[in-house]
Amino acid sequence: MQSTVSSRSALVCGAGGFIGSHLVKRLKREGFWVRGVDLKFPLFGETEADDFAVGDLRDQEFCRAIVDRRFDEVYQLAADMGGAGYIFTGEHDADIMHNSATINLNMLAVLQKRNVRGVFYSSSACMYPAHNQEDPDNPNCTEDSAYPAAPDSEYGWEKLFSERLYLAYNRNYGMRNRVARYHNIFGPEGTWDGGKEKAPAAVCRKVARAGRDDVIDIWGDGKQTRSFLYIDECLEGTIRLTRSGFEGPVNVGSEEMVTINQLVDIVADIAGKRIRTNHIPGPTGVRGRNSDNTLIENRLGWKPSAPLVAGLEKTYQWIEQQVKRNSAAN
Ligand code: NAD
Repeated sequence: MQSTVSSRSALVCGAGGFIGSHLVKRLKREGFWVRGVDLKFPLFGETEADDFAVGDLRDQEFCRAIVDRRFDEVYQLAADMGGAGYIFTGEHDADIMHNSATINLNMLAVLQKRNVRGVFYSSSACMYPAHNQEDPDNPNCTEDSAYPAAPDSEYGWEKLFSERLYLAYNRNYGMRNRVARYHNIFGPEGTWDGGKEKAPAAVCRKVARAGRDDVIDIWGDGKQTRSFLYIDECLEGTIRLTRSGFEGPVNVGSEEMVTINQLVDIVADIAGKRIRTNHIPGPTGVRGRNSDNTLIENRLGWKPSAPLVAGLEKTYQWIEQQVKRNSAAN
């Protein structure tokens, strides 16, 4: 399908994924003509993209084919990723680094040659040094704490490499790329089962499957801290940064830090269940992580502010539906 002369156009790489599929919906609401690209269609519902190309962004020919015009906005969200069970076991390190770096190298080369002005790139809080995140009550994730670099996963190292790559294209080719460091994004229509899901989805699923008075397994002692950002706020930050004069890197995350045990309590409250935790060994990542939103507030005059419980209510409701649907099918 061709874009009309009047409408703005956007390319969303990773449009079959969690954040990308929500981003497509948001851009459609704003009146954009949207091309989505991914290895797969969204898992939970039809894409709203005007045009959706299924293909592999590790293939430069494919990248060239999808960049057949100068898009007004480009979002590069495609990556080989997953939750702690995928990233921290070490079993997927080579794939994670190779696949994601290749996608970023390919897309930048093609977009620059096609004179696309700039790309939004989603880096991750996983690039912050592990040694600043050992104290669960006081993790340091200010943007300028990134160096000397010491991420605790190869996923984090690839993000660090790629964010530098996007900024190098700004310096050497005059592009206007934007880099955000996302901190644990969650919401409906995200992976909730199968090993690639993140903590909020895993906890919602376990609580939804539990009885009224029950026990669920939690990796580690549950005292590790995190903050979680609801998808709508992530998209707001993404779009504001993309359209701003600030290149980043900048945190896009929540400052409402909770322990995993507290996360379980909040979800149990939402579900109206009495849930206790059984602590089992498992990959837990750093001891503490929280967004620091000083920079985003200074540079964009905005920061995420919705309470965690509000996003968890919507997410729990959606995951409970999936659990019920699944058990009815089995
Ligand atoms: P996701 O896994 O749901 O989406 C990523 C998409 O990229 C998937 O649909 C996948 O099929 C696609 N993809 C992977 N390899 C591809 C390839 N070779 N060619 C084409 N498509 C390919 O993840 P998400 O949660 O939507 O995350 C989007 C981006 O945000 C990723 O770059 C991720 O690293 C980053 N990020 C996410 C979070 C989070 O909490 N969700 C946190 C930090 C950073």
